[in-house]
Amino acid sequence: MRSEFDIIRRHFTRPVNNAVLGVGDDGALIAAAPDRELVIAVDTLVANQHFFESSDPRKLGHKVLAVNLSDMAAMGAIPRWATLALTLPNYLAHKNEIWLKEFAEGFYTLAQDYQVELIGGDTTQGPLNITVQIIGEVERGKALLRSGAKVGDDIWISGLLGDAALALAHEQRSFLLKPEEYNQCMPALYTPVARVELGRRLINIANSAIDISDGLIADLGHILENSQVAATIKFNDIACSNSLKKYLRHPLAVNCLLAGGDDYELCFTASRSKRNKIQDISLNLGILLSRIGKVKPGKGLTILDKEGKEILVEKTGYDHFSA
Ligand code: ADP
Ligand code: MG
Repeated sequence: MRSEFDIIRRHFTRPVNNAVLGVGDDGALIAAAPDRELVIAVDTLVANQHFFESSDPRKLGHKVLAVNLSDMAAMGAIPRWATLALTLPNYLAHKNEIWLKEFAEGFYTLAQDYQVELIGGDTTQGPLNITVQIIGEVERGKALLRSGAKVGDDIWISGLLGDAALALAHEQRSFLLKPEEYNQCMPALYTPVARVELGRRLINIANSAIDISDGLIADLGHILENSQVAATIKFNDIACSNSLKKYLRHPLAVNCLLAGGDDYELCFTASRSKRNKIQDISLNLGILLSRIGKVKPGKGLTILDKEGKEILVEKTGYDHFSA
């Protein structure tokens, strides 16, 4: 039988370079630079709520960090340190060393890509639940906020939306994809890529930003509410994969695109005068950036089809507490 301390020592203790003190004491120590602010975010993945308990542990390790990196991206922050609170059922903690090994590898591989250091956490027994807290840094006063959108701003999104939700719909048998289509959509669901570099480049360019974790309508809605503005977007300008595009006559596919969630792309607003700079960033990073609409005075979000008719959507985003 492995003890909690064995688990921490074997799987979650690696030397740190950028923290004053990492795993092993009652708390970790980090030194914040005087000209920067710390940005802190936390996200939990609950088994059978956010993922299937039988999921590939390596991908889980990746995803739980990626969703937190995405919050750093949305703030324009450099991710630096993370803590990990793991609640493990007995069978994973004691009988299945491979699970922990692979989970840790998925986590550390992505962490190394971004030079993020695991500096602490908590390990307890119970239903599988994984919480990562991330700490980043941003130049003082420069963080990208949800509250900065201005009337007249262009609305932009990065990447392609809807694939993660479509892959999930396929797994839940509410939609049937061809094997090659599922294979194309699946990485978006299990190994999302956070747009950290994009977030950094958007400092001094975007007036507001959010990462799309609950679906475009819900998350753009947060920008509008926090900024006290309205917006109109064009459905046809929202970029999606060829797999999803084929099915856009089905309401479920439209819903995946507009309200599916788990995209981890950025939605941001910027003045029209920044269009050229934004195109340069897109070319430089090799990330598709699509201009999908405009910020207007007032309240609410209007989505127009190619004839200029309003599209009404029933389910506007992922909400744990909605009926
Ligand atoms: P305490 O009892 O003081 O809360 P713990 O015994 O829970 O301390 O943890 C011992 C050390 O191991 C602490 O530095 C803690 O941050 C770290 N730690 C515990 N669980 C994890 C984990 N899953 N990942 C990384 N570090 C962890
Ligand atoms: Mg503890």
